[in-house]
Amino acid sequence: MSETRTTTLLVIGGGPGGYVAAIRAGQLGVSTIVVEGQQPGGTCLNIGCIPSKALIHAAQEYERAREYAGASPLGISVQAPAIDIGKTVAWKDGIVARLTGGVEALLKKNGVQLVRGWARVLDGKTVEVDTGQGSQRIQCEHLLLAAGSEPMPLPSMPFAGRVISSTEALSPASIPGRLVVVGGGYIGLELGTVYRKLGAEVTVVEAQERILPTYDAELTKPVAAALARMGVQLCLGRKVLGMNAAGDAVRVQDASGAETALPADQVLLAIGRRPRTQGWGLENLQLDRAGNALRIDDQCRTSMRNVWAIGDIAGEPMLAHRAMAQGEMVAELVAGQRRRFAPAAIPAVCFTDPEIVTAGLAPQQAQAAGLDCVTAAFPFAANGRAMTLESTDGFVRVVARRDNHLVVGWQAVGRGVSELAAAFSQSLEMGARLEDVGGTIHAHPTLGEAVQEAALRALGHALHI
Ligand code: FAD
Ligand code: NAD
Repeated sequence: MSETRTTTLLVIGGGPGGYVAAIRAGQLGVSTIVVEGQQPGGTCLNIGCIPSKALIHAAQEYERAREYAGASPLGISVQAPAIDIGKTVAWKDGIVARLTGGVEALLKKNGVQLVRGWARVLDGKTVEVDTGQGSQRIQCEHLLLAAGSEPMPLPSMPFAGRVISSTEALSPASIPGRLVVVGGGYIGLELGTVYRKLGAEVTVVEAQERILPTYDAELTKPVAAALARMGVQLCLGRKVLGMNAAGDAVRVQDASGAETALPADQVLLAIGRRPRTQGWGLENLQLDRAGNALRIDDQCRTSMRNVWAIGDIAGEPMLAHRAMAQGEMVAELVAGQRRRFAPAAIPAVCFTDPEIVTAGLAPQQAQAAGLDCVTAAFPFAANGRAMTLESTDGFVRVVARRDNHLVVGWQAVGRGVSELAAAFSQSLEMGARLEDVGGTIHAHPTLGEAVQEAALRALGHALHI
């Protein structure tokens, strides 16, 4: 017998999109239920952003210890560093547990009901949840689809045996001797770097002619150079044909048709993620699509009245902070507020070593948009703080309109530059001009001084170069 409950807002998926929508709705007094089939926190907290950044940090610290075991110019010496990967994974799991527990507590604090189980959509106002102990029917005025995405398989290389996705790669029982990574994008390079630093021989196979093809080439050059220094092999412009007959090597083909086999103890398949739109009754709604994703408007409305979609299920950019911002907006719309999703920029960070951060328009994008812009870069080689951190590779670049100096984009590559994302987004959102950034006193010595200096350089009077 199924019990029926009613609510104003029913959220399917407790990831960063869904849980933020629910918290905000709760704050606004909207009766809200979230249905989550796994742990609250979604891909981001359980098998995405947070666990990957935890492993990136652990691998970085281990690499540093190994550097100190050699000849260190800092005068530090360390003997025989070792890593217990079981303990590393347990530490990472501890962070995940603290954060997912925190999300549960926040939902409760804001009066949101969390229903654990898998939801099946019956119609635009009714969902059935398999809780494991029976089923529950929930009726709602507003249905918010926040079911996220899943790793994309390759027909010639299904996830099985040695072929793993990021989910398994984030909880290794041991580090493989030879890892082949298919896909030189975010996941392939973030996790490929982790495995290399933890001791694996890593080869990255990328279909395009360069790594991170969605970023402009100037930004990816320092990352490619660092990968080469680390000993990561790059096989660019190659097609993956599948595993060999013995199942211990990846067959790849170059543009001329020549085939090679890359020996692999493990293969990390990271060729993108696809919106989770199949297998839970969503087909019944016949919502408009944009490719694989649900089509939404600038209020995250789907093609059906009072059915909303946010985050990865609504396509690119598949980033946690975009999902959260959409979730907050939908909650406010459901509560009767006037909102539109029109951010000046959605920043993106690739947590490679060095990191890349972008917000707003790159020079080529500004040009394609018909804007006449000035562009200026300030290198970390001329920044004192970067020298004290032994990380002088990279630069900060600004793009601004030539006529009125309005800043339209920021890019940076270098160690620790992810933290510049806040300054970049804030200046874009507040409509800063080059003079605003150049005239702001930036604390010394910090990497942020390169932001001010890039703006000054665009104005023709950088001080330290
Ligand atoms: P999700 O986080 O995927 O959450 C969807 C939730 O819905 C899941 O918990 C799922 O169990 C649940 N669900 C699905 N179907 C049902 C159903 N029928 N019934 C009940 N529950 C259901 N983004 C960044 O911004 N920065 C990063 O550093 C970053 N790193 C990443 C690293 C990795 C390895 C991966 C895989 C992703 C990373 N991302 C990162 C992307 C980020 O995780 C996603 O963009 C974000 O989680 C999307 O949020 P969401 O709420 O749309 O969906
Ligand atoms: P991605 O889109 O970043 O990269 C996939 C790469 O695989 C691309 O470079 C593509 O050219 C390549 N590729 C596609 N098909 C291929 C094939 N058959 N053979 C070889 N290469 C192939 O995807 P991802 O790395 O799987 O990550 C998925 C998504 O998760 C990202 O797009 C991003 O939205 C999110 N993510 C974000 C972060 C972050 O914000 N730091 C980190 C990890 C993941």
